[in-house]
Amino acid sequence: MGQDNALPITIRGVTKTYGKVFALDAVDLDIHSGEFLTLLGPSGSGKTTLLMVLAGFTRPDSGSVSFGDQEVVRMPPHKRDVGMVFQNYALFPHMNVAANIGFPLKLRGIAKDEIRSQVEDALGVVQLEGYGDRGVEQLSGGQMQRVALARAIVFKPRILLMDEPLSALDKKLRERMQIELRHLHEQLGMTTVYVTHDQREALTMSDRIAVINHGHLMQLDKPRAIYDHPANPFVANFIGESTLLPVEQHNGVASFDGVPLKLSQQDQGIGPLLMLRPERLVFMFEGDDPDFNRFNGTVTEVVYQGESFLVYVRLSGGEEVAVRSISQHRSLESAPDIGDSIVLGLHRDETVLVSEA
Ligand code: ADP
Ligand code: MG
Repeated sequence: MGQDNALPITIRGVTKTYGKVFALDAVDLDIHSGEFLTLLGPSGSGKTTLLMVLAGFTRPDSGSVSFGDQEVVRMPPHKRDVGMVFQNYALFPHMNVAANIGFPLKLRGIAKDEIRSQVEDALGVVQLEGYGDRGVEQLSGGQMQRVALARAIVFKPRILLMDEPLSALDKKLRERMQIELRHLHEQLGMTTVYVTHDQREALTMSDRIAVINHGHLMQLDKPRAIYDHPANPFVANFIGESTLLPVEQHNGVASFDGVPLKLSQQDQGIGPLLMLRPERLVFMFEGDDPDFNRFNGTVTEVVYQGESFLVYVRLSGGEEVAVRSISQHRSLESAPDIGDSIVLGLHRDETVLVSEA
């Protein structure tokens, strides 16, 4: 396997409607050969529809999809050389593990001995050596998902599509499987398109994230760039927490509450909305660090959340923002009380202006 067998995917102007609903609205997307790209968006945003268009189960109303140089929109699913993993495993209950995994090879008319050896290889890849004779119903959720994964990769597809494959698993197992899937991708190198509505999962696993909403591509970038520099309010709110407050712009200088904002030396965007994320704000009980923007406010609520406090602060202009503070021993004593007047600080390098829409 390896990167030689991966293919780039080019999506151009893909639209799919259901009645009056635009499940996909003129989507353009270039997926690089061998990358792990995640489609991230809320329920109903069009993620599954796009994956089904790639798999060939859904024909778009218009637009084109190419794998490498080959246009595939009219190609039936079984000719596309694409592996698929679904949320609900979709294993055959009456077949044992080996028969499930070998099924795609059997469909392709591969000889029995060859099937046996390739199934063994695939079991090894998903760390289920020796499980071939087990019945599917004897497996745990995590093991079933590994079998589904082995079945998706056993015929060495150049493209792997996964639709919320971990969402049925509990949190601990899900987090472990995220890392395992990521390692597996590094090992196999096939172009992978992964669907999730879970922003943390997307940040953990992806080379790049395509954020979609209402069938529109909202932003396409690396996880850090998406988090640090969201392109619009939707992305700023969907990924992480943030409060967006309007700034005044005069002759290219952005001010908040009449005070010019200190920005990083690099361009932090020229949007009209100041992004305040709870974990980026700090309490400035004293000092006057010139690299910090300062905001005066009053504490309205203090919520203890175990590893951190969430402190709600009403700024002098009336807007409410949340501040997250790690609950170490010392800050436990110094956690503010409701009604306290405080000063919040935001480092200039963390001061980001977001575009409107
Ligand atoms: P997601 O996977 O992001 O939750 P989907 O791609 O399943 O979203 O759906 C996108 C939109 O298209 C939704 O509004 C959904 O109701 C609609 N939709 C999807 N499939 C069908 C269908 N077969 N018939 C009618 N509407 C559909
Ligand atoms: Mg879906």
